[in-house]
Amino acid sequence: MTEQFRSVPVMDIDFTNTTMDVFLNETIHPCLTQAQKCFIVTANPEIVMATRHNARFKETVQSADHVLPDGIGIINAAKMQGTPIDERICGVDVMHHLLAHAAENGYSVFFIGAQEASNKKAVEKAREKYPGLIVAGRSHGYADLYDEAFVRTVVEAKPDIILVALGMMKQEGWIRDHIDRFDKGVFMGVGGSFDVLSGTAKRAPSIWIRFQLEWLYRLIRQPKRIIRVVKAGQFMLLHVPIIHKIGKVIGYNKSRSRKKR
Ligand code: UDP
Repeated sequence: MTEQFRSVPVMDIDFTNTTMDVFLNETIHPCLTQAQKCFIVTANPEIVMATRHNARFKETVQSADHVLPDGIGIINAAKMQGTPIDERICGVDVMHHLLAHAAENGYSVFFIGAQEASNKKAVEKAREKYPGLIVAGRSHGYADLYDEAFVRTVVEAKPDIILVALGMMKQEGWIRDHIDRFDKGVFMGVGGSFDVLSGTAKRAPSIWIRFQLEWLYRLIRQPKRIIRVVKAGQFMLLHVPIIHKIGKVIGYNKSRSRKKR
């Protein structure tokens, strides 16, 4: 984690505490101008919970230059700890900003991840939405992304921005394992964002987001996400005041903290 911004730790993960505008103007734009490298993780409660159970993943997240608070659960947890975070910074919004900024300034983007049809369509949509966008390359996420020939193709394309949409853990793992091969680049895991960009999946309507029910919207559309919702629920048992109290009454928090020790 770079020391540029104050950070707020939530369960051993140091979140960058700033606003979207400041983050973009003071970190991302200079990084691109100076052809440096930057690894960004956008973390929600599921990611934080995953770091508790997977030491290697925890190290990976901790090795990022910036962990951005993506998810209202992180904002609530930080507030409850008495160390509020300035602003929620959503990965999908950062991605759109990166695409717009790249198109305006001639930076190239490599798109890795999602199903072939979704990846292809996402790139088409990005070109349509951001005229002039330079696409350094693209690959769906079900090929062997550790294959040397593939990695060399990405490295030799010298992309300025590398968006990796493989779902949490896999995408951060790919970045961790390959970032050293590159001389420059803004690397970010973007989860299901290509599916949203391509229209394969829909982002929750703003009313759901306003009422902090984005997770419920996604669960209704993809019932397979129930495990993730359970993980986010566990996070809330540990962090959201009223739910935390219920957790205490049912003995959840006590047993978790004993386990932790
Ligand atoms: N994905 C992929 N390769 C894989 C596993 C997943 O390309 O081996 C893609 C998947 O098609 C989807 C995205 O990764 O586009 C994961 O989306 P999800 O919404 O689950 O992301 P998360 O919530 O984990 O950030």
